[in-house]
Amino acid sequence: MELETVDKSKMILRFLTYLPLLFLLVGSFSCAEKQQEPFSFVQLCDTQLGMGGYEHDIQTFKQAVRQINELETDFVVICGDLVHNASDSSYTDFKTILKGLNIPSHLVSGNHDVGNIPTDTTLQYYRETIGADYYQFDHKDHSFMVTNTQLWKVEVEKESEIHHAWFEETLNNLGEKENPVFVLGHYPLYTERPDEEDHYYNLPMPTRKRILELFMENNVVAYLSGHTHKLTKNTYEHIQLVSGETTSKNFDDRPFGFRIWQVSSDSLSNHFVTLKSVDGDSIRVSPSK
Ligand SMILES: [Zn+2]
Repeated sequence: MELETVDKSKMILRFLTYLPLLFLLVGSFSCAEKQQEPFSFVQLCDTQLGMGGYEHDIQTFKQAVRQINELETDFVVICGDLVHNASDSSYTDFKTILKGLNIPSHLVSGNHDVGNIPTDTTLQYYRETIGADYYQFDHKDHSFMVTNTQLWKVEVEKESEIHHAWFEETLNNLGEKENPVFVLGHYPLYTERPDEEDHYYNLPMPTRKRILELFMENNVVAYLSGHTHKLTKNTYEHIQLVSGETTSKNFDDRPFGFRIWQVSSDSLSNHFVTLKSVDGDSIRVSPSK
């Protein structure tokens, strides 16, 4: 009897010794589970109301909203050029359609929103009418940075410097957290090769180089942009760079539509969804009232 009691206390002691380890194991499993929670989100590009015909672009944007609402995705990003000509009336139309979404949206500014050469006036107008032009948000252990690529494309006094300092500091901080990072912008970094000449559809070489270095140092997994009006997909090391199809006008005969990004801890992919009931430019629209 006594022996048995001793054995029992030994067992209890052993159990108590290993108890913290057990908690640690359970804790790390639940952490791993949390990080693995998959999700998806939508990339819309260049809704640019007025680029492919004002009524056309209104109808295609509405159709995109309808189709997105039928999907089970977490949120939408719109990679800039929300409208073709920034004005109270175009932004009111844009925001009215956007309100129809039943999931959150995150907006990026494009050259048609803040101007090819942004000024205090255009930036202030965008910030008052639409909201911040650069910011960061998190979603399910992933981080997202929305940039204003116009401030990289051209040097805007004070603004470009502040934007770049914010970008470097924020991305370096995110890098320390080790969350995968998505960066969103309007201009692609480059369209064919990282060392290509500067042109209308890319960012200037020194800036492009520095951004790619920062991407590599800080766990950036993808850079999503618009602006090209044709599907532009590249991979830099392991980083996916995608400018997608628009809902306004495509220069490469791709159909109108949007991309769905599917994210899990061990995979990242995107695929295209065509807009229904929209056939090139032959979409029927009712006269505006
Ligand atoms: Zn653009």
